[in-house]
Amino acid sequence: MRSGTTGATLEAMATVAEHSGPVFDELTSPLTPAEAFVAADRCLECGGPYAAAPCVDACPAAVDVPAFVAALARDEPENAARIVFADNLLGGTCARVCPVELFCEGACVLQHEGRKPVEIGRLQRFACDVALSTGASLRRSAPYNWLRIAVIGAGPAGLACAGELAALGYDVTVYDERIEPGGLVRYAIAPYRIQREPLPAEARVLAELGVHFELGIEIDSLEALAAVAEDADAVVLAVGLGPDADVRYPGDDLPGVWESLPFIEAIKTGEAPEVGDSVCVVGGGNTAVDVAREAIRLGAGHVTMLYRRTAAEMPAYPHEVAEAIDEGVQIEWLTAPVRFIGDARLQTVECRRMRLGEPDASGRARPEEVPGTEVLIPADTVVKAIGQSPRVAFLSQIDGVDLDHGLIKVDPLTGQTGNPRYFAAGDATNGGATVVEAVRAAKRAAQGVHEWLERGWA
Ligand SMILES: Cc1cc2nc3c(=O)[nH]c(=O)nc-3n(C[C@H](O)[C@H](O)[C@H](O)COP(=O)(O)OP(=O)(O)OC[C@H]3O[C@@H](n4cnc5c(N)ncnc54)[C@H](O)[C@@H]3O)c2cc1C
Ligand code: SF4
Repeated sequence: MRSGTTGATLEAMATVAEHSGPVFDELTSPLTPAEAFVAADRCLECGGPYAAAPCVDACPAAVDVPAFVAALARDEPENAARIVFADNLLGGTCARVCPVELFCEGACVLQHEGRKPVEIGRLQRFACDVALSTGASLRRSAPYNWLRIAVIGAGPAGLACAGELAALGYDVTVYDERIEPGGLVRYAIAPYRIQREPLPAEARVLAELGVHFELGIEIDSLEALAAVAEDADAVVLAVGLGPDADVRYPGDDLPGVWESLPFIEAIKTGEAPEVGDSVCVVGGGNTAVDVAREAIRLGAGHVTMLYRRTAAEMPAYPHEVAEAIDEGVQIEWLTAPVRFIGDARLQTVECRRMRLGEPDASGRARPEEVPGTEVLIPADTVVKAIGQSPRVAFLSQIDGVDLDHGLIKVDPLTGQTGNPRYFAAGDATNGGATVVEAVRAAKRAAQGVHEWLERGWA
C-alpha cells in the first residue's frame, strides 16, 4: 500500500519542522517532582470493583486516574504513564489541552467537598513528560496480523486510531497533508496551552507500535483515495473540519483582516502577525476567546470581542471567558460587524447593535439587527472566529459515506460509515469538540475496524 505514495516520513518531518513561534508563558506550569509527589498524595483513590471513580467516569478516554495517581505517589512516573497510555495514546497532549474543569477535575470528589480537586491534568503531564523523555516503552503491539489499514488525517483522531490499530497488530499507515502530525493541536490550539511538545515524542511512541507516517500528502480526490485505499482492508477517515467558515464582510480584503485559523497558525509557526494596539475578534466561541487572549499576549492594548448574542448564549467555556476578561479582554455583547473600513489597511470596524428574537434552528435566540445603531470601533486588526466549515467537497465523493450537514454519519459505537470498509472519528463526525473526545471516538473506531475484520467483513 505504501509503494504508491510520496509523503515525508516521521524522520523527514523532524528535519523540516523547525518553526516554533514566540514562547508565550504556559497557562499551566509543569509540576516539579516534589510537587507531583505532594499533589498525588491528596488522591483518595475512589472507586472499586463495582463502580469506577467519578474522575474516570468523567474522562472521555476513561483513563484510570486513581491508578496512575497512586503510581506517582509511589514515585513510579513511568508506570503512571503506562497506565495513562493504556487508555490514551495522546496522554501527554491531553494533559496540556483538556478542559479538565469540565471533565476529570470537575468530577473529583474533593471538588464536590468544596476543596481543591486533585490536579489530575498537571499530574498526568508530569508522568507523561518523564516517560516520554526517558523513551520508556509505553505500549506493546500484538503479533502482526497481515491486515492493512489506511488512516486519512494525522490529527488526534487519526493518531489515536492508528496507534490503537497498530497495537492490535495491524499494518497502519497514516496520511496527512501537513508536514507535521497533530492536526489542530499543532496548528490551532492556543500556544499558551501547547506549542509542539509532546507531539513528536507521542508520534514516536506510535511509530514504535508500528504506525507508518506519510506526511505532506493530500488525499483530496477519489483517485488519490483509491491509490491509498486499494490495498487497505479498511480506511479510517479522520480528516477533521476544514477552513474557517466563509463569512464575508465589505472590506474583507484589507490588510489587518484575518480568519482565525491562519492567524493562530501564523503564531504557532513563528510568523506572529503585527496586530497593532487595537484588535477586534468576531465570535463568541472558544476559538474567539483564544484569539482574544493571544492578541493580548502579542501586545495589543485594546482587545474587544464582538458577539451578536448575550453572555447567556455564548458557546465559549465560562471559566475561560472569565480568565480572558481578567486579562483585559472586553466583550461587546449584542454587537455584530457590518463592514471593515480603512485605506491602505484596516482602521475601523463598523458594527451594529443587535436584539434577540425568536429561537433559530440551533434553539438559541436569533439575533436581529437594530436599525440606526451603528458603532465605529477603531481597530488595527480584526480576526473572524466564527467556526470551521466541514470538508464536504472531498467527503461527498466517497461512495456510501453519508453526510449530515457535512459531517460523516457513523455508528456511534463502532465509527462505521454507510460504506462498511470506511470508518470515521473526530471532528469530521462530531462537528468539533475536544482532543480527548476525538481520542474516545478513535478508540471506538479502532475497535469497530477490528471487530468488523475479525468477523470477516460481515
Ligand atoms: C482554535 C482551536 C482551539 C482549540 N482548543 C482546544 C483545546 O484547548 N483543547 C481541546 O481539547 N480541544 C481544542 N480544540 C479542538 C480540537 O483541536 C479538535 O477537537 C481536535 O483536534 C479534533 O481532532 P481531529 O483529528 O478530528 O481533527 P484535526 O485536528 O482537524 O485533524 C485532521 C487532520 O486531517 C488532515 N487532513 C484533512 N483532510 C486531509 C486530506 N484530504 N488529506 C490528508 N490529510 C488531511 C489535516 O491536515 C489534519 O492534520 C480546539 C480547536 C480549535 C479550532
Ligand atoms: S475523584 Fe479525585 S480523589 Fe477520587 S480518585 Fe479521582 S482524583 Fe482521586
